Amino acid sequence: MPVRATKRGAARVPFERGADADVLVCGASFAGLAVARELRATGARVLVLDRYEIGERQTSACAAPTEWLRNLGVEASIRQTFGSLLVHTPRVARARWALPWTFSTFDYPQLCALLWAQSGAAEFETAKVSVRTNSVVSTDRGDVTAPLIVDALGWRRVLGAGDNVQPPEAPLSRGLEVHPSGVGEDLELWIDPRYVDAGYGWSFPARDELRIGVGSFDPHDPVKQPTLRLVEDVEQQPHGYQGNWIPHRLRPATEDGVFFAGDSAGHCLPLTAEGIRTAFYFGIALGRELRAVVEGRQDKAAALERYGRFSASHRWKFESMYLAQQSIRCLHGRPLDHLTRVFTRPRVAHWAFQHYLEIAPPSFAVPAPPTAMPVARRDAA
Ligand SMILES: Cc1cc2nc3c(=O)[nH]c(=O)nc-3n(C[C@H](O)[C@H](O)[C@H](O)COP(=O)(O)OP(=O)(O)OC[C@H]3O[C@@H](n4cnc5c(N)ncnc54)[C@H](O)[C@@H]3O)c2cc1C
Repeated sequence: MPVRATKRGAARVPFERGADADVLVCGASFAGLAVARELRATGARVLVLDRYEIGERQTSACAAPTEWLRNLGVEASIRQTFGSLLVHTPRVARARWALPWTFSTFDYPQLCALLWAQSGAAEFETAKVSVRTNSVVSTDRGDVTAPLIVDALGWRRVLGAGDNVQPPEAPLSRGLEVHPSGVGEDLELWIDPRYVDAGYGWSFPARDELRIGVGSFDPHDPVKQPTLRLVEDVEQQPHGYQGNWIPHRLRPATEDGVFFAGDSAGHCLPLTAEGIRTAFYFGIALGRELRAVVEGRQDKAAALERYGRFSASHRWKFESMYLAQQSIRCLHGRPLDHLTRVFTRPRVAHWAFQHYLEIAPPSFAVPAPPTAMPVARRDAA
């Protein structure tokens, strides 16, 4: 059984006085931690909230382009690195697609700890966020007031206007994976209706464990049985389930005075369900805009306008990938075989994957934000 570190129920004491902050970042995963890191040298009071401890709950298979991890200074969390993808379809048993860059699996708690260590004097509290009214966010520990509020809470978009996003009618994909102990040499993908009609299966080795799962682009399609089928086919055991919904359409990155980054803004790439580097990318972009506000170089209205425009400028790329995602259901038989083989040509794969990387390039992470003077972290309560 995983050890649960976070206090719950009565053990979660209210904030001693009404908490406040200059910037309130709700969500302490990829997007939220990227925002906090960007604000580290501003002297602003940055408060980060999450219902769990930082790094306690892994939310993905945790694979990202290696250069992103290096540029963020979190390479110590890397577990295994891959220069190609091994693709299986019903009639092409093994096709190797060479990547022009490498992909690495990493350790989630360690990556979060490394990012948090780079966040200067930002403060962290465990609290479940429920709703926002103007500049007040309500949590299970009381209210927090802040002029600048970030929703990095994932697919549910908790602080969005109106009802929260709800499956299965919302534009969401779904993924489920297991983490048996084991070793592997390759990042493997299965595009095979035997597992899922619209989606794919994967096995991502991470040194001493395998992350094996199935994702469906259709939120109505169950993924548990397909995951078990794949696990059985690769002769592994279904230990350590983990699953989640994954947004596959962009949503407004600003709404009613709130900033959204990562899955809450639909920043996950639709065709591949790759949402970690995009959470970093948009989190950094947002952090830079907020930095300009707390340093007095622009006002909040300008930050809302600029960040909203930045996110929306990626719409056509996300929509193109969404269209490709929707057509995957029709890709069977010979057309699938042909495409799979075409991508074994290094020039084709390099061209396509280089363009794919450029949607959220690792160079965006540099230069790193100015370094904060070492300061003891304050207690937020
Ligand atoms: C099975 C699976 C495998 C995946 N594998 C990969 C992969 O290998 N590579 C990749 O790039 N992408 C992958 N993804 C997608 C990726 O996980 C997401 O796109 C990514 O996690 C988004 O980051 P985020 O910071 O926006 O949100 P999240 O990582 O979802 O973080 C949201 C945070 O908010 C907190 N939170 C939520 N609600 C509340 C609340 N009410 N109050 C307080 N805190 C709250 C959560 O505890 C969490 O810490 C995968 C997804 C799934 C489902």
